[in-house]
Amino acid sequence: MKPSAFDYECPTDLNAVLAMLGDTETETSILAGGQSLVPMMNYRLAAPERLVDINRLPDLDYIREDAGFVAIGALARHGEIKASELVGRHFPMMSEAYDWIAHAAVRNRGTLCGNLCHADPASEMPALMQVLDATLVVAKATGTREVTAQDFFVGTYETVLESDEMLTEVRIPIPEAGTGWGFEEVAMRKGDYAWCTVVATLRVVEGRIAAPRIAVSGVGDAAIRLGAQEETLAGAEPTSAVFEEIAAAAAAAVNPPNVEHISADYRRDLLRSLLPRVLSAAASRVAA
Ligand SMILES: Cc1cc2nc3c(=O)[nH]c(=O)nc-3n(C[C@H](O)[C@H](O)[C@H](O)COP(=O)(O)OP(=O)(O)OC[C@H]3O[C@@H](n4cnc5c(N)ncnc54)[C@H](O)[C@@H]3O)c2cc1C
Repeated sequence: MKPSAFDYECPTDLNAVLAMLGDTETETSILAGGQSLVPMMNYRLAAPERLVDINRLPDLDYIREDAGFVAIGALARHGEIKASELVGRHFPMMSEAYDWIAHAAVRNRGTLCGNLCHADPASEMPALMQVLDATLVVAKATGTREVTAQDFFVGTYETVLESDEMLTEVRIPIPEAGTGWGFEEVAMRKGDYAWCTVVATLRVVEGRIAAPRIAVSGVGDAAIRLGAQEETLAGAEPTSAVFEEIAAAAAAAVNPPNVEHISADYRRDLLRSLLPRVLSAAASRVAA
């Protein structure tokens, strides 16, 4: 398949990109790594009139530590983030998750920001960014705003981004010392989109769970936090009985897609099996 005809612009200035996005006469899409957008265009699932290629913008390809957070720019590629010592040191969960995300060729071009804006419900990073409490910096011609990762995802391929806005940076707070984490996924093969991804962080204070955060993808129309299960977990003892109970409640609470090769019930079973493993791993990683 070939995409429908489109105009192509490749500005070297962020203001020019934002001006084009603000021009409501022409339906415009940003082209970052092209690893999701171009297949969508080839299948005619997307048909923008104009592509604005952001790959020549200066100063957006960075991963750097700032005051208490790591900032990742719009042109930082999955491959660079996967290989980043800074990311591996502060967010080992991200490095582990990247083993499951696409293949080297795709990761060499695809960007974290493009991945979040694409908002595939089976994508891993939207769940991780919610558990890690990331803030997304969004720019338009008239100014910038910040959106929490938790508020960013609306539904399948849908975010709160307006058509005149661009995601310029993701800020991920450096977790408090003693925070444990867990990540588990089941997919057809490593590199395929998830059937079920489960991620969590927590601390253990005087034998009780504190500040639990759990997110899932692949089991709904967007990656979500499991707020009710987090509330139950807070203050509980980190035992397998508690983890099993939380997992059963989580499996009953989600509303997975029911598609031919993988049923909603099977995805619920995956969540019920993976969540106790994730919580046990997180508890065992808590620094003494
Ligand atoms: C074979 C294959 C396997 C894959 N497997 C996985 C997987 O297992 N898990 C997974 O999560 N992903 C997977 N992907 C998708 C991959 O992660 C993409 O890189 C990612 O989803 C999109 O990033 P991109 O930079 O390529 O964005 P693009 O494809 O360029 O853009 C995607 C969308 O986001 C918009 N956009 C891009 N950047 C911005 C921005 N800065 N601000 C506003 N809007 C923006 C675009 O307009 C478009 O609508 C796979 C892709 C392929 C081809």
